[in-house]
Amino acid sequence: MKVVIIGCTHAGTSVARQILKTHPDTEVAIYERNNNISFLSCGISLYLGGTVKSLAEMFYATPADLEKLGAQIHTQHDVYRIDVAQKQIWVEDLNNNRKFVTQYDKLVLTTGSVAVIPPIQGVSLPNVLICKDYADATQIAATAQTKKHIAIVGGGYIGVELAESYSNTEHEVTMINGLHPLLSHYVDTDFSTAVAADLTAHGVNLKLNETALKFDSDAQHVYIQTDRAEHQADLAVVCVGFRPQTDLAVGQLQLNADGSLHVDRYMRTSDPDVYAAGDAVAVHFNPTQEDAYAPLATNAVRQGLLVGMNIFKPTLADIGTQATSALHLYGKTLASTGLTLARAKQHGFDAAVAKLTDNYRPEFMPTTTPIDMRLIYERKTHRILGGQLYSAYDVAQSANLLSVCIQNKNTIEQLAFVDMLFSPYYDRPFNYLNQLGLTALEQEATAKP
Ligand SMILES: Cc1cc2nc3c(=O)[nH]c(=O)nc-3n(C[C@H](O)[C@H](O)[C@H](O)COP(=O)(O)OP(=O)(O)OC[C@H]3O[C@@H](n4cnc5c(N)ncnc54)[C@H](O)[C@@H]3O)c2cc1C
Repeated sequence: MKVVIIGCTHAGTSVARQILKTHPDTEVAIYERNNNISFLSCGISLYLGGTVKSLAEMFYATPADLEKLGAQIHTQHDVYRIDVAQKQIWVEDLNNNRKFVTQYDKLVLTTGSVAVIPPIQGVSLPNVLICKDYADATQIAATAQTKKHIAIVGGGYIGVELAESYSNTEHEVTMINGLHPLLSHYVDTDFSTAVAADLTAHGVNLKLNETALKFDSDAQHVYIQTDRAEHQADLAVVCVGFRPQTDLAVGQLQLNADGSLHVDRYMRTSDPDVYAAGDAVAVHFNPTQEDAYAPLATNAVRQGLLVGMNIFKPTLADIGTQATSALHLYGKTLASTGLTLARAKQHGFDAAVAKLTDNYRPEFMPTTTPIDMRLIYERKTHRILGGQLYSAYDVAQSANLLSVCIQNKNTIEQLAFVDMLFSPYYDRPFNYLNQLGLTALEQEATAKP
């Protein structure tokens, strides 16, 4: 059996490792356009902020590692066409521009995503960068040495993480964010406002409700024209989201309206011999029970593993995702899972939010820390749809617990009374998540139907 994998970051690496672990006799040929594999993009802001000392630490596999497992790995090879009927792919070796065609028995598309580049005049100027892969990371790291005033366009989690790292390293930062509140995909407005306050407190100059329309530049500066004003900086980084990189599949495989590949629970595309995983595909989003686009490394590695497990025969079905995520902001953790209240309402749920701020452990302990919590639930069924936590206490694993609750269709009653440990070192007799469930219960008991 010859398996061809196109793209080798997280999903592609995960597929190759799993296949070669369980079926080492398989011929696995990997084609990757870049000269590296497995770069962790989360390392960009960690390096910029000084938490990790070298970008080289952000690779967890090398081509040689996969070769040792038995893969043929072709970096700097671009696949520019596929034909699923003929089971062929067309490849260009970017080292010498040699083009060739090769056959497969099974094809895996792990082509990932590309940064959305808005159709704005001047967006391709040299001092306007994007933030996605290792090449972008090296440019961001190099320019940080000389460029002192940075404009970040886009207030999603990548923009916010970059703003933190630049502002912690003696850069002047202007963040321009139009249309939606900061991090609106992950949190509701009050947490968005709290994040804005923390950014402002650390010197980030926020320009909210402003849409970038045009970039101009001279040797020193970049000028960003928005619908309200013109801003000047030394460098702009555009972080307005990602879209699936699925051009190869157009006319060959079923695509969703947003361009992501449609896959079933066994990661099969519409062609029985073509599988896909990672940012190129839609995920099954459990809170809505619908497909959604949620480009996260977590989804990519899980789906890659599933491709490796299912490619020989359907073995294990995907259980879907809550798109749980967290970011670290000036010593605080912001963690979220599932739907925000706004998105729940957009999806037609009669949803409500329970809000609680409570110390994580008793006040008689030498220290304690408050946690701001939000629980989104469906009023009719009391099913939990989402959760958000923001605190100087590490609440990341609590978002994971709420993720499990959503996965298992738990209710606010079950969260209120689920068994959790008590020790004053860690929490109160009712853990703070039990308390959040109880708050939702009390709210429903007194709410009008
Ligand atoms: C700055 C940043 C921070 C992030 N932080 C987090 C985080 O903290 N947690 C988290 O869960 N997620 C995070 N993510 C998201 C995560 O990086 C992505 O979800 C993940 O990279 C997806 O992996 P993938 O393998 O599906 O696709 P990609 O990483 O997009 O890789 C696809 C690969 O396919 C190659 N390729 C595509 N087309 C072809 C072709 N035709 N021929 C040859 N090669 C091709 C590309 O060169 C690329 O290397 C972050 C992303 C960014 C940009």
